[in-house]
Amino acid sequence: MAEKKFVYDFEEASAFKDPKERRQYLGGKGAGLAEMTLAGLPVPPGFTITTEACREFYKKGEQFLEEIWQEVLEHMKRLEEKTGKKFGGTDNPLLVSVRSGAPVSMPGMMDTILNVGLNDEVVKTLAKLTNNERFAYDAYRRLIQMFGSIVMGIDKKKFDEIFEEIKKKYGAKTDADLDANAMKEVVEKFKELYKKETGEEFPQDPYVQLKRAIKRVFESWNNPRAIKYRELFGIPHDLCTAVNIVMMVFGNMGDDSGTGVAFTRNPATGEKELYGEFLPNAQGEDVVAGIRTPMSIAELKKRLPDVYRQLKEAADKLERYYRDMQDIEFTVERGKLYLLQTRTGKRTALAAVKIAVDMAKEGLITKEEAIMRVKPEQLQQLLHRRIDPQAKEKAIKEGKLITKGLNASPGAAVGKVVFSSEEAEELGKKGEKVILVRPETTPEDVGGMAASQGILTARGGMTSHAAVVARAMGKPAVVGAEELDIDEEKKIVKVKGKDIIIKEGDIITIDGSTGEVFLGALPTIEPELPPEAHELLKWADEFRKLGVRANADNPEAARKALEFGAEGIGLARTERMFQGKERIQILRRFILAETEEERRKIIEELVPLQKNDFKALLEIFDGKPVIFRLLDPPLHEFLPSLEELLPEYYKAKYEGAPKEKIEELENLIRRVKAMINLNPMIGFRGVRVGVVYPELYEAQTKAAAMAAAELIKEGKNPKLEIMLPNVSNYKELEVLRPRLEKVIEDVAKEYGVELKVPIGTMIEIPRAALTADELAKYAEFFSFGTNDLTQSTLAMSRDDAERFFIHVYLKKGILEKNPFQTLDKAVAEVMKIGVERGRKTRPDLEVGICGEHGGDPESIEICHKVGLDYVSVSPFRIPIARLAAAQAAIKEKWEKEGKL
Ligand code: ADP
Ligand code: MG
Ligand code: MG
Repeated sequence: MAEKKFVYDFEEASAFKDPKERRQYLGGKGAGLAEMTLAGLPVPPGFTITTEACREFYKKGEQFLEEIWQEVLEHMKRLEEKTGKKFGGTDNPLLVSVRSGAPVSMPGMMDTILNVGLNDEVVKTLAKLTNNERFAYDAYRRLIQMFGSIVMGIDKKKFDEIFEEIKKKYGAKTDADLDANAMKEVVEKFKELYKKETGEEFPQDPYVQLKRAIKRVFESWNNPRAIKYRELFGIPHDLCTAVNIVMMVFGNMGDDSGTGVAFTRNPATGEKELYGEFLPNAQGEDVVAGIRTPMSIAELKKRLPDVYRQLKEAADKLERYYRDMQDIEFTVERGKLYLLQTRTGKRTALAAVKIAVDMAKEGLITKEEAIMRVKPEQLQQLLHRRIDPQAKEKAIKEGKLITKGLNASPGAAVGKVVFSSEEAEELGKKGEKVILVRPETTPEDVGGMAASQGILTARGGMTSHAAVVARAMGKPAVVGAEELDIDEEKKIVKVKGKDIIIKEGDIITIDGSTGEVFLGALPTIEPELPPEAHELLKWADEFRKLGVRANADNPEAARKALEFGAEGIGLARTERMFQGKERIQILRRFILAETEEERRKIIEELVPLQKNDFKALLEIFDGKPVIFRLLDPPLHEFLPSLEELLPEYYKAKYEGAPKEKIEELENLIRRVKAMINLNPMIGFRGVRVGVVYPELYEAQTKAAAMAAAELIKEGKNPKLEIMLPNVSNYKELEVLRPRLEKVIEDVAKEYGVELKVPIGTMIEIPRAALTADELAKYAEFFSFGTNDLTQSTLAMSRDDAERFFIHVYLKKGILEKNPFQTLDKAVAEVMKIGVERGRKTRPDLEVGICGEHGGDPESIEICHKVGLDYVSVSPFRIPIARLAAAQAAIKEKWEKEGKL
């Protein structure tokens, strides 16, 4: 900036070369008005008092207004010259609006006063000049009303009461039905109220009005609601507001006048069309107040085609200028369009994707920009079952929206209300769709939650049990709906402050993406990515450096993953394949067997079963890498629990069951006790089981190798890889590797095929990362298991942490984010060390991540920076990972180019 000025005409905004700086000083509204003026769009003339002035005002107090008053007067003078009107003049009077506008949008939080400059004399001139007395007095009463309430603090209701009384007196339904005389009466009554409340006459000097209005707008930066808004959205308190003085244009001058709001594209669908509303014969604030029903832009096109044409032209120009969808306020005065505000428009996820892709295709923005404009969470939103938007709108109008809680786990669910987990499980088994409604959930409810379509709780926050578990299950959940008064005894829910009672068996719909709860069954829409999303993701693939693979254990998940663009399976957990009864029995017998010989015989039974599991996944991902991880959990997880066994045992004894039966149970109990780990997470699990019982890992490897061999014989191209979990010492691999290689070799020989099976390791213990140079000698690839790596680095068991203290840590700011969702910086550091040391030994070492963090955009950026080769994520997060990986790469590029 050349000189220190506090006031800028709209035309002078070019003094700020940097658009960011311009916004900083002139505020969003001021910068927008200035930029539109410079772009030749129809904006009423005006000027802006900077945010710097507002800051000075807070430092120096009211007396600062005197310091800048001369400058303000000069700009008023210029405004008079430009418009050919005079402020307070009785010939051709100038009226202005005094408008707040901060550097960041804080819609409706601060104040604006319209029609400043009217008084008892000017109003007469205005009436004569426009040949419209009603209009003139309508404008005057609005000024007294706004000035009185906003500037002087008179209760707004008192004005409304007077207005209603007069409407009643004249039998008017809306304000539009009041004639000139009635309006005059309103003005008189308003002035009386003003005097009574303030002890002074309504100020007749327009400059007194102006000065007080400016002061009030400065002060409105610290409106309690504005402060609260800033706290909520983390907006700094010292940004301050600019003040915009704008020549009034009048939408209330008859039927060829009006005011409206328009989006340059449809903010719901992204369709390239003007979208919005127009209210004929009205002034700005009427649209928001919802006094009359506005007409759609489509109707405007029919009724006032010329205005529509001007609006369309302006919209196109605005988009070309801002290169994004704009949300504009406009007013039409006797057929002529004026733009009063523009800002980047808010939009749905669907629209965000479509607009980004369309604009790139139109050449308005680059592909890189299109990729950066869609938030990964927006893609996520499109991947959940949603309530049909039209049906939702209708339901809201019909008053079916019961309450709103926290949007804990996205997606929509419809079902019958049940109040207990037992009930949920029972009905769920019968195939009925239920919503589990609880004050809050506990670990005992997990079964009931699994059997429900969705979960609704009255208490708890975003990391409450219900929220965490629902997200893990991928079930829609609304939690902390505090208006719900749940009576578990009577099996009813009352909604506080409303006349609604929900009984057991009633059908409700919950929307876990918004927290809304509806009465009745609302139609839902299958999640499906729109074509534009697929296009965007294809572009993303061109930019990303990270590969994207899937965590998938069964054919269904694998197919879904492939459909979403997975480039391989980064993690197939073999333990998930033990769920069938037959298999678990085999495993149990294996665990309970006394000798190695016995164990070897039993585990052979498992080979053909597992072979088929492996074959299915390898076939779906033919030609792409598929990593099978050998058994990981502690063995006792496959045995019945003591809680189950002991009652059975006592019952058998009590009922005098045969001796053998009792002995069998005793034996089982003894073995189960022997298997219990005090600390299973860091106990006898993973490779440690493999070292103690190598026959187990050998059998699993054999099954996998056979699956690959069979597929090769069938002419396929399986890319099998084997991974060992929970490794912390290279000697564990040194011991096991030759055994597994031998198994693979034997299978290859038996089938007469060539098998090349890379063997790698998980890195989920800090020791493994720190000794990665040694591990890399025995591991052909690494995969970071960041769930366990987070647990072991932070010495925090996830279940316990999320149950007992994470929410408190988050609230108190000890933790900024849940480290089980977003990589903790220490864990990232451990990963970095692991990658560096691993690649020192083996420069081409392939390194990925298969923990849940791999699907979290922020963590994906870390993975990109650390130099991983790929992320492996659950099927439904693959699109998010593709986009986030591209964004990480583009961000890095832009940073290098100095664009960020
Ligand atoms: P907000 O930030 O709360 O939207 P604005 O300053 O944009 O407040 O103004 C409130 C309403 O008054 C808007 O509808 C706007 O279009 C209208 N308005 C503001 N200034 C003028 C003006 N000079 N002429 C006509 N209408 C105006
Ligand atoms: Mg506005
Ligand atoms: Mg693990």
